[in-house]
Amino acid sequence: MDTKVIRIEEQQSEEAVIREAGEIVKAGGLVAFPTETVYGLGGDALNPASSRKIYEAKGRPSDNPLIVHIADMEALAAIVKRVPESAKMLAEAFWPGPLTMILEKSDLVPKETTGGLETVAVRMPSDAVALAFIRAAGGYVAAPSANRSGRPSPTRASYVAQDLDGRIEMILDGGDATLGLESTIVDLTAKPPAILRPGFITGEMLRQKLGRVEEDETLFSADSGQAPKAPGMKYRHYAPKGELVIVRGQTEAVTDYIGKELAQMCKNKKKTGVIATDETLDKYKADVPRSVGKRTDAAAAAKGLYRILREFDDEGVEAIYAESFDGEGVSQAVMNRLLKAAGHRVINV
Ligand code: AMP
Ligand code: MG
Repeated sequence: MDTKVIRIEEQQSEEAVIREAGEIVKAGGLVAFPTETVYGLGGDALNPASSRKIYEAKGRPSDNPLIVHIADMEALAAIVKRVPESAKMLAEAFWPGPLTMILEKSDLVPKETTGGLETVAVRMPSDAVALAFIRAAGGYVAAPSANRSGRPSPTRASYVAQDLDGRIEMILDGGDATLGLESTIVDLTAKPPAILRPGFITGEMLRQKLGRVEEDETLFSADSGQAPKAPGMKYRHYAPKGELVIVRGQTEAVTDYIGKELAQMCKNKKKTGVIATDETLDKYKADVPRSVGKRTDAAAAAKGLYRILREFDDEGVEAIYAESFDGEGVSQAVMNRLLKAAGHRVINV
């Protein structure tokens, strides 16, 4: 199949293009589209055949549920058994935006979309193109991140094409994703509500609205070994092709340790990459040194992380060392993705 890539910039062409994209989805096809978090791979959430196609195109195990993207609150009421007060409050505060809520599903949603579960994950994105596309597609778009399973989520259209060219009907190119990390996921069927994936809507922000919210430390701290909470968590996500290790400790100890490792790898003729910050970048003699920005700017790290992981793959990097991110809020989301990419390998120095 030929994948049509269409850059969306002019108001004029936009409407017709989005209508075309919507028609593809209504007819059971797949369209990748920009959102403020990462690019999504969209299909009709109410059509079991579309969801099966999404799993196939991604090479994703079919017990890993999809997030249903909606554009208004009426759509939420249609796909869940009931809209609890907690969901109304969170929607009021954070939708449209980077928050996904897990609720009990209604009969309208096929099990193919929810990976066999009785619950459904729902999000209303804030990106204008995403909202227009969801409306044009009938109002219910199942969309995981638009990468091949195991690759970093795509933050720009060319990355979607790298992974899915020839496998889907269309890619809407809306430029770079503004946030760069996937949505926060909160499970509202749990008592108290539980964060399953940290993101830009932080635990603190959710607690201000809901009171108690469970937030498992193992989501963003090195110590793992616990059973995964969300179905998708058992899979190694976001993995670069090279071996990635996170090095944690005082800045000087970290730069020293990584420096020695780089020298050793150089002797072994291994191509190396480093994920550093502006403050430390020039201390590293790596083949592909990369900074995620200022140490204090977690949003910049979130925005750049997946691009950097893909650049390592493109350059054929074999050994990657990353500084760790131990702050609160968005730092925790960055650390969560880094831990997944590293398969939870952390060295404390
Ligand atoms: P992605 O679409 O790639 O951002 O991944 C979506 C993730 O949302 C899945 O891997 C699951 O971890 C989570 N998820 C989706 N639906 C549910 C659900 N019904 N219950 C729990 N977690 C879910
Ligand atoms: Mg994903």
